[in-house]
Amino acid sequence: SAALLDVTDLKKHYPLKGGLLGGTTGYVYAVDGVSFQIARAETLSLVGESGCGKSTVGKAVLRLFDITSGQVVLDGKRIDDLSTGALRAVRRRVQVVFQDPFSSLNPRMRVRDILAEPIRNFGLAKDGRDLEARVAALMDKVRLPRDAVNRWPHEFSGGQRQRIGIARALAAEPDLIVCDEAVSALDVSVKAQIVNLLQDLQQELGLALLFISHDLAIVEHMTHRVAVMYLGKIVEVAPKRSLFAAPKHPYTEALLSAVPVPMPGKARERILLKGDVPSPINPPKGCRFHTRCPYAFDRCRAEEPRLNHVATALDPGHVAACHLHDLPAAENPLAVAKGA
Ligand code: SF4
Ligand code: MG
Repeated sequence: SAALLDVTDLKKHYPLKGGLLGGTTGYVYAVDGVSFQIARAETLSLVGESGCGKSTVGKAVLRLFDITSGQVVLDGKRIDDLSTGALRAVRRRVQVVFQDPFSSLNPRMRVRDILAEPIRNFGLAKDGRDLEARVAALMDKVRLPRDAVNRWPHEFSGGQRQRIGIARALAAEPDLIVCDEAVSALDVSVKAQIVNLLQDLQQELGLALLFISHDLAIVEHMTHRVAVMYLGKIVEVAPKRSLFAAPKHPYTEALLSAVPVPMPGKARERILLKGDVPSPINPPKGCRFHTRCPYAFDRCRAEEPRLNHVATALDPGHVAACHLHDLPAAENPLAVAKGA
């Protein structure tokens, strides 16, 4: 069961410079020990509020910087310690679609050249005719007219630009695409079109997706599994159905309570968390969520919970980091699947 992507205990700490001598005065614990896997042709969504470290995880997988510690393994090969030269192959196999389709496309390049660039860089075309054919096929894949390759980015709408961004990612023939808030900047109706396109492409091409998003309604529509992050840690991972029906971490429960439910009478009671997310420079001891958790008890302030399998009626692959699951079921508010 070799995963396509296997991330183990990933940490990214940014030094804070300052003080009289300009030395390191502390660290931002942006990502602080994150492990997860993605299978081929699977979508794993990484969710959580802004600043929780999910984009940093995406950047680590894209090898946009050196990580502090941990391992990132792609298709059985470590990629976190590769030198610049050896990174080329990784760069081809892991592509990205950014949030902002207005700033991620070079305004001075026609669409043809935007798509031809990765094909050339990775030496994928046999000759000029093959290059043209590949560019045309990419336009077909993202459902844009072939003759639009002669146009400039500013001539397209936001949704069309995001299609070009997706085509550019596909041009490299990747195994995995990191989508970092890839639909967040788009209008609601356009969002649905782009999400449907990504799902179609995934099935057609067997692509794996790391779908980074703060929008749980979108995530519920398109993902296979979900990993929830809070303050640099993953607090819960589960197959979609199990997570949405029966969250096993109080933070996930609160996030889900804010997602609109289309069916009247099925609305969840909104859980409002007290206070703000604490600073990742000085995260709370014990469970990082204890300062805001409605169920916190003594142990939570002293001991950090580990990601453990939790009993659910729906799926054995459901893990959560919360001491509640060590309590007898009768004392655990998250023990029973609500409404299930
Ligand atoms: Fe809340 Fe304690 Fe569970 Fe943390 S470990 S989520 S503080 S109950
Ligand atoms: Mg972000």
